[in-house]
Amino acid sequence: MKIAVLASNPDLYSNKRIMEAGEKRGHEMHFINISHCYMDITARKPEILYRGGEVLKKFDAVIPRVRPALTFYGTAVLRQFEMQGSYCLNGPVSITRAQDKLRTMQLLCENVDIPRTGFAHSPLDTKNLIKSVGGAPVVIKLLEGTQGKGVVLAETEKAAESVINAFKSLKANILVQEFIKESAGVDLRCFVVGGKVVASMERRAAKGEFRANIHLGGTGHKVKITPQERKLAVAAAKVVGLRVSGVDMIRAKDGPKVLEVNSSPGLEGVEHATGKDIASLMIEHIESQIEKRKKPTK
Ligand code: ADP
Repeated sequence: MKIAVLASNPDLYSNKRIMEAGEKRGHEMHFINISHCYMDITARKPEILYRGGEVLKKFDAVIPRVRPALTFYGTAVLRQFEMQGSYCLNGPVSITRAQDKLRTMQLLCENVDIPRTGFAHSPLDTKNLIKSVGGAPVVIKLLEGTQGKGVVLAETEKAAESVINAFKSLKANILVQEFIKESAGVDLRCFVVGGKVVASMERRAAKGEFRANIHLGGTGHKVKITPQERKLAVAAAKVVGLRVSGVDMIRAKDGPKVLEVNSSPGLEGVEHATGKDIASLMIEHIESQIEKRKKPTK
């Protein structure tokens, strides 16, 4: 098969691993840099031009690895591939949904347990917003933040009000969430491929830190998850509509709660913590889906 990895940095561990795994399984792998793509949006003949104007021939499959800052352009390019009939491992709509924490929370809250979460527009609502999630301590999150960077713990009502109002004066969109104290700097990352959890790791925050993100010094460890956690991860991935995702959750007193669903989860931490070849599992999933597509429907 001819498979494209649609991403930004060919030297990233995850991208290198996916390219390698595809080649090992006998596929023709191409690294396509999102920023070097141009789109020709012509009726009945949507094309993608690359670098000096080369027209990209149709790929059998595209593996999108869109970094948050490029969501708008990256998903537009992906749509172009989709229109040409390429199988997209994650579709543009589900990637856009996953990048937006508020949208994800709204989608999840119908069927999936999440921490109590509030969102409001006007600074007049600050006090009620804090009250609506049970009062301080609360966690305040920038809607477009990633890798834990836009996540703040406010221990008192006053601190929460100040942080919320400061973010608002910068016109930043934020959400406010109950702080799950008992999770104590530990969260779970479940890697879901094709509706199955293929690997899970526990991430432990660095000393003095409540955020368990690897980018903030957190460390990944292999963990056995419960059937309830497995079910929750699969349900979260399904609601957002992602075929490959990293579902983050925390263990609260009254059961696991989903924090986030990532559309381009990194492979490095989870492959090292679990010893699993996740890149190959992603390629195998594409193979099985394309095989299914070929079978005539009865
Ligand atoms: P990001 O997308 O920036 O990683 P998350 O919502 O996943 O943001 O939060 C980052 C980390 O902060 C989580 O992995 C978790 O360790 C911690 N955290 C987030 N929300 C809560 C919460 N409501 N209660 C306790 N810890 C939290």
